[in-house]
Amino acid sequence: MSPPEDARSDPIALPSVDRVLRIPGIAALIDRHGHAFVASEVRRLLADWRRAFVEHKPPPMSEREDAAIVRCIASSIATRASPSLRPVFNLTGTVLHTNLGRALLCDAAAEEAAKVGRLPVNLEFDVVSGERGDRDSLIEALVCELTGAEAATIVNNNAAAVLLTISALGARREVVISRGELVEIGGAFRMPDVMRCAGAKMVEVGTTNRTHPADYRGAITRRTALILKVHTSNYVVQGFTAAVGEAELATIAHDAGLPFAIDLGSGSLVDLSRFRLPREPLVQDALASGADIVTFSGDKLLGGPQAGLIVGKRELVARIRKHPLKRALRVSKLTLAALERTLALYRDPERLAHTLPTLRFLTRPAADISAAAERTVDPLRKALGDSFEVAVGPVASQIGSGALPVESIPSTGIRIRSRRAKATGRHLNALASALRELPIPVVGRIEDSALVLDLRMLDDVAAFVAQLDRLDLPQ
Ligand SMILES: *Cc1c(COP(=O)(O)O)cnc(C)c1O
Repeated sequence: MSPPEDARSDPIALPSVDRVLRIPGIAALIDRHGHAFVASEVRRLLADWRRAFVEHKPPPMSEREDAAIVRCIASSIATRASPSLRPVFNLTGTVLHTNLGRALLCDAAAEEAAKVGRLPVNLEFDVVSGERGDRDSLIEALVCELTGAEAATIVNNNAAAVLLTISALGARREVVISRGELVEIGGAFRMPDVMRCAGAKMVEVGTTNRTHPADYRGAITRRTALILKVHTSNYVVQGFTAAVGEAELATIAHDAGLPFAIDLGSGSLVDLSRFRLPREPLVQDALASGADIVTFSGDKLLGGPQAGLIVGKRELVARIRKHPLKRALRVSKLTLAALERTLALYRDPERLAHTLPTLRFLTRPAADISAAAERTVDPLRKALGDSFEVAVGPVASQIGSGALPVESIPSTGIRIRSRRAKATGRHLNALASALRELPIPVVGRIEDSALVLDLRMLDDVAAFVAQLDRLDLPQ
């Protein structure tokens, strides 16, 4: 093919945008994606080339031929037009992985969210009276039925639930908290900062390892608004420790005429020990022990969409709901629909290990995980060739998202080690990155100089294996 006509006039031999848009193959792209989008991609490609010329790295002439230009534009459009949130294989061993989107919705929840997204719904509309309704009322009764609370309100996430609770109940006054519970959850969520944001004065009591009832009693003054207990979800203090239990704290608060709130973090609605998992505190127990307000996440152990649930005494929930921040932190109809379908599963706890994906993965039978490993290991060995050693063996999964930080659940995984004599770390990192570049990125974890793929969460073995021939092995 001869160079583009404008090659003669343009010193850096680039076609014009107009000429590229007239290439026959481009017309099909314009038909599908619209003129504006395709034209902007063409402009971008030409600008990239111009920059390359300036940096004395011009693309070879063959890349500047019409067919190559169409291929290049089509591929960049395909990348940009596809959704940026895309599925990955979570083989990290962390079931509730915050960076990978935490809980997986059950089908009913996902479908309900999709359905109400497409239709007008009675989100804040009472169809009986024809008057304005309240979005919380849609699932409040169900939340109360499951937790034993008098009232409930739902916000964007548990961080929002804590911020809103402290803002509504503790602003311009004092909130008492143990020094052993000044948690940082990750990101910028640190208890002292949240208190400041909410406009409350934090009053720390006790020490890092030990806090006693007298510490709380001695800190209560006329300015105290609230006693707050925060579940230390992502760490444990071991050894010479003491903390004041929920029931006793409730008594201390109530004796002083104060409300008592607990940030439970993950919080669970079923006793996980019935599924032979380590026990996490139950929302019901926290309320039964006398807490007036309990907050917890929708997308941790609950297994639903991202949300923060605030449950407790009617009068306090009403105050929380009336706070102006509530409007800023409210959830959408998609969240409410998915949350309701998730919560409904808890009416039949016997079947929860099948119906709730989070619990299904946490309780996945060892034989099932091993079977997935056996079906995966040979294709993987073949794809990785001689430069890596691939072995199946026991690994440890975690619940994740701060639930039970020191407990692990036995699982089966594939350990991949570099056979190189040196720079094995770099070799392994390059493999990890190649696995992430597959059409469905594979995310494992590096541990003890090995790349570990925990197969607990690998459901679709066929899809995993099918893409291995596209693996671009590190050189
Ligand atoms: C996870 C957690 C939070 C934050 O919850 P999100 O739903 O992630 O906003 C707050 N407090 C505790 C104790 C937690 O474990």
